[in-house]
Amino acid sequence: ATPTALLVGTGRGSQLGILIRGPQVLEQTRRVDTIVLDKTGTVTTGRMAVGEVRPATGIHPDDLLRTAAAVESGSEHPVARAIVDAVHAAVSVDTFSSHAGFGVQGIVDGALVVAGRPAWLAEEWSIRPTDAERVDAASLAAGGATVVAVGRDGVYLGAIAVADTVKPTSAAAIEKLRDLGLRPVLLTGDNDGAAARVAAEVGIDEVHAGVTPAGKLDAIRALQAEGRVVAMVGDGVNDAAALAAADLGLAMGGGTDAAIAASDITVVSGDLLIVVDAIRLARRTLGTIK
Ligand code: ADP
Ligand code: MG
Repeated sequence: ATPTALLVGTGRGSQLGILIRGPQVLEQTRRVDTIVLDKTGTVTTGRMAVGEVRPATGIHPDDLLRTAAAVESGSEHPVARAIVDAVHAAVSVDTFSSHAGFGVQGIVDGALVVAGRPAWLAEEWSIRPTDAERVDAASLAAGGATVVAVGRDGVYLGAIAVADTVKPTSAAAIEKLRDLGLRPVLLTGDNDGAAARVAAEVGIDEVHAGVTPAGKLDAIRALQAEGRVVAMVGDGVNDAAALAAADLGLAMGGGTDAAIAASDITVVSGDLLIVVDAIRLARRTLGTIK
């Protein structure tokens, strides 16, 4: 039988906006010593905005942006929404498909357009900038931006910088998680520059950047192999496998259905301070039983 205190604990959780899959989850929560955080949409707002554009030689910036917006109109990713919002003209895409954690592809005005991580365009599509263009795009990443490379019919069209904003409560929440004895780790598919900027803003010193969705799962397993009891906080399709593998999976409300389905706890508001509340609640509830 489930001790009454656990049921009271899960009930108290729902009042706080913490949806707990079952009473046994509180026991998992109490044992956690490491908390792995996805960047985009978890530590940051997930509302991104387009910054500088770096068209390839001979490409007009409007052509770069409109082409990118057309293919991204099929995607719900924060990067895609930013690019679509930056373009006013109506644009559309055919035979669209999305590659979680890498980018998107589709037919735009009869041409095959791809947009995503620069390394994905180079390796999967053999679409490479010249050395000068690559240095130009790399400077966007060094400035802390997410960089979307765009190609059309095998030709590099340029790069678009997209910037992310840290949620107002993230830094305070990470400090409190540390006070509770948890070690915070930032895990992201984004580039090193963007990851380092966010990590510095919120006070995380352990960062894994450029990680693929499969790599996120491996990162969780590697921490567990060290004997850590790992909580993972995420919101994306790309986080689902890692959320399921973690000792405790926490999904941000407003995140994707895949992330919520893979998790033990959903934090309705998406505020990291509520993650702190969830851990305190679990410790307090279990404390009343022992
Ligand atoms: P995160 O781990 O920060 O949530 P993702 O795993 O979703 O990031 O994505 C990793 C990287 O893949 C992004 O930083 C971006 O460069 C690229 N990417 C993912 N989805 C898209 C998309 N729809 N358009 C362009 N690039 C994308
Ligand atoms: Mg995310």
